[in-house]
Amino acid sequence: MKIGIIGTGYVGLPTGVGLAELGNQVICIDKDEDKITSLRSGKVTIFEDGLEDLFLKNIQNKRLQFTSSMKDGIEAADVVIIAVGTPPHPVTKEADMKYIYAAAEELALYLNGYTVVATKSTVPVGTGDEIEKIIRDKNPQADVDVVSLPEFLREGFAVHDFFAPDRIVIGANTERASKVIAELYKPFEGKTQMLFVKRKSSETIKYASNAFLAMKIHYINEMADFCEKAGADVFEVAKGMGLDQRIGNRFLNPGPGYGGSCFPKDTNAMACMGKKFGAPLSLIEAAIRGNDLRKTKMAERILKAVEGRKDAKIAVWGLAFKNGTDDIRESPAMQIVEQMLNNGANLCVFDPKAQDNAAKNLGDKVQYAKSELEAAKDADVVAILTEWPEFTQVNLTELKSIMKSPKIVDLRNMLKSQHPEKQGFDYQCIGLCN
Ligand code: NAD
Repeated sequence: MKIGIIGTGYVGLPTGVGLAELGNQVICIDKDEDKITSLRSGKVTIFEDGLEDLFLKNIQNKRLQFTSSMKDGIEAADVVIIAVGTPPHPVTKEADMKYIYAAAEELALYLNGYTVVATKSTVPVGTGDEIEKIIRDKNPQADVDVVSLPEFLREGFAVHDFFAPDRIVIGANTERASKVIAELYKPFEGKTQMLFVKRKSSETIKYASNAFLAMKIHYINEMADFCEKAGADVFEVAKGMGLDQRIGNRFLNPGPGYGGSCFPKDTNAMACMGKKFGAPLSLIEAAIRGNDLRKTKMAERILKAVEGRKDAKIAVWGLAFKNGTDDIRESPAMQIVEQMLNNGANLCVFDPKAQDNAAKNLGDKVQYAKSELEAAKDADVVAILTEWPEFTQVNLTELKSIMKSPKIVDLRNMLKSQHPEKQGFDYQCIGLCN
């Protein structure tokens, strides 16, 4: 099939590479000329495990192309996939639809023959209707169906999740469009659940899923606070809960709060939709409030560890919103860093992948290190903010020998099983009575 993908970010690029690998002819379109220039010159613009090899392979076999011209990307396409951003509106926190609507207006002009326009961006309920209307207004002759094709990939596992999705949800209101998308996803037939639903249900499934996962994280974070006060161990509690198959053992790791480009914005957008439709979503609203507050509490926890120490140096390990990605959007680590800076803290930071992105925001407000140990040299405390597996490989004896005082505030419980406290560290993690 011939596919045009609008937006070559964390969703559009892995999707384009994956669909090319499955044998389709893919053109990725982005209005960001610099991105297109990089991609054309064979440089991947995001870090995702396994992406680069497939990207290069499919450029070489000419199944994957890049353009900044909407016309070149759309004209020949059987399926157009919209994967542009839907960031939160700075004031209302609703999904800001300006990129979606602009893309719909632009693509409408170049539709040629029957085309399915599929929205992979996470969009409020009813957006499919709106896109259809925009296309019909701009190009009344267009032979088009608009479907919702929500994306469930996890950043850091985008390639894995493309080829082994838990489920594929297709929100199509016509038989003709369902058939085209079923053809597109034929390679997944029998390998995963394919759910054909109403377009509005599909749009809702994406938000309802993300909000549920965010609430699950917030729930275990509150349980961790409870365990700290009550003298229980949140790990034992999570394990005991997770053995119940109705609950499941995933997303029960306490930490500094949920973040990233999806959960914060999607919970806010869902809460706004609840208000709009007169169906308040009080659990989601509570999770949003609690999660915002959590970052402040975590910053206070680290600052308390160096209370009374003059010019204390805080070593920060991890800035990405989670491991396996260079993405710092809505990263709890970055928000905690900002709060500590507002309190005059002296920080030296290290992240294996996200350091360059972080430096664009933090500038010279912090020092940058090239390794965990370099960051920790002469530090009064190490604060672990992102769960990079390599942090567990650090030699604790060496770490202790280079720090000014052997203190660790581990907001990801990375080192817990190594018992740093037995090696002379003042060690705090999450969800235990210290
Ligand atoms: P992103 O910001 O990384 O990428 C969006 C890209 O779209 C940018 O490169 C931008 O230049 C381009 N763009 C915007 N308007 C354009 C236009 N009119 N024409 C051409 N290009 C245009 O965003 P992302 O993280 O890939 O997210 C995209 C959507 O997918 C969002 O709605 C998001 O909620 C959803 N989503 C993201 C993830 C994730 O893990 N990041 C997972 C599932 C769903």
